[in-house]
Amino acid sequence: MLTLDVHPTGRHFLQIPGPSPVPDRILRAMSLPTIDHRGPEFGTLGRKVLAGIGQIFRTKHPVAIYPASGTGAWEAALTNTLSAGDHVLMFETGHFASLWKKMADRLGLSTEVLSYEGSDEHLPAAPGWRRGIQADMIEARLRQDTQHRIKAVCVVHNETSTGVTSDIAAVRKAIDAARHPALLVVDSISGLASAPFEHDAWGVDVTVSGSQKGLMLPPGISFNALSPRALEASKTAGLPKSFWAWDEIVDMNKDGYWPYTPNTNLLYGLSESLDMLLGEGLDNVFARHARWAEGVRSAVTAWGLPIQCADPAVYSPVLTGVITPPGVDADAVRRLIHQRFDMSLGTGLGKLKGRMFRIGHLGDSNDLTLLATIAGCEMGLKLSGVKLVGSGVQKAMDFFSSHAAPDTLKKEAA
Ligand SMILES: *Cc1c(COP(=O)(O)O)cnc(C)c1O
Repeated sequence: MLTLDVHPTGRHFLQIPGPSPVPDRILRAMSLPTIDHRGPEFGTLGRKVLAGIGQIFRTKHPVAIYPASGTGAWEAALTNTLSAGDHVLMFETGHFASLWKKMADRLGLSTEVLSYEGSDEHLPAAPGWRRGIQADMIEARLRQDTQHRIKAVCVVHNETSTGVTSDIAAVRKAIDAARHPALLVVDSISGLASAPFEHDAWGVDVTVSGSQKGLMLPPGISFNALSPRALEASKTAGLPKSFWAWDEIVDMNKDGYWPYTPNTNLLYGLSESLDMLLGEGLDNVFARHARWAEGVRSAVTAWGLPIQCADPAVYSPVLTGVITPPGVDADAVRRLIHQRFDMSLGTGLGKLKGRMFRIGHLGDSNDLTLLATIAGCEMGLKLSGVKLVGSGVQKAMDFFSSHAAPDTLKKEAA
């Protein structure tokens, strides 16, 4: 029999960039009794979360909510808008962009991937995995496509494997500048509710997201935010779909219900998450993550280690990737930190395996949990024999104490 005989004291530090630590408030909300998903109480809950999630995506149009992980919502975005053999243009920002391409290939789409063409001193094998989307390359490619064979441009907003956030408004401008009718389909699974995102204002046709990153929920629900053009495309899109089909979901959602059983208790959690995020105000939420990210980067810089994101204009507010010195296996460092200090850090994915680790700064967190996170990394790096230039803990303490969080300043004034 498999028994879980180790239960360390104190809280586990879940510092991976999703699933993020879930606030107690949300866990408590989820422990309410499961109700009839066709009953009157459920309709009230359904209508509330559907209205609230629109405010998070900043859209006036429908948002489909699936009882599935983010990967399911990726599939939904493609199968509802495209037909077999359709040509889609993607941009290789990292591991998640590559996985989405693999899915598109498996679904029978014809994929074309653009990637950054420059070089990189720290990661010569994957220079594009340190930078954001180059919108000018997308524009140039679309201008060549005078026959409009490209049906969709699919891009990742916050590349969780690298800690790079791309400029989605620039991608929309590139499509418009080329006067190209392709749909803009965006993965903001880890960007939503942590990094600024504007579904309507940026002219996104489908935004894909998930529950376990910025929304601070456990894994298990995912989203497609839609545009009128995406809904129009879904009427003629030929890829097979049934569970993912938007038409029945959008229709039944008008009254707050679903065609099949939604995950009731996760929706209680979503309702609580919406109260928290909208109560704080989304712009405050974004500023909070940007400040945390800056504090964490100050520590990495003090250690003298390179940050995975090479372009300061597109640093992710959600996570920071840390490149370990040549010869130091980042996964061995992570294992040591887990064993000694009960903290989980993100692994290097795909081309980055063993070369870097990722520090998540999202979900239920504050200055002191982040300082402890940095302390765990610093101890683990030293124990692994990495020569650090200086103390990241000291640097982050200096940063957090000299840059007070806006909400704590408000408290002082009161
Ligand atoms: C987490 C994540 C996914 C995958 O979502 P799952 O919920 O694991 O299926 C896809 N893309 C990005 C950018 C992610 O962060």
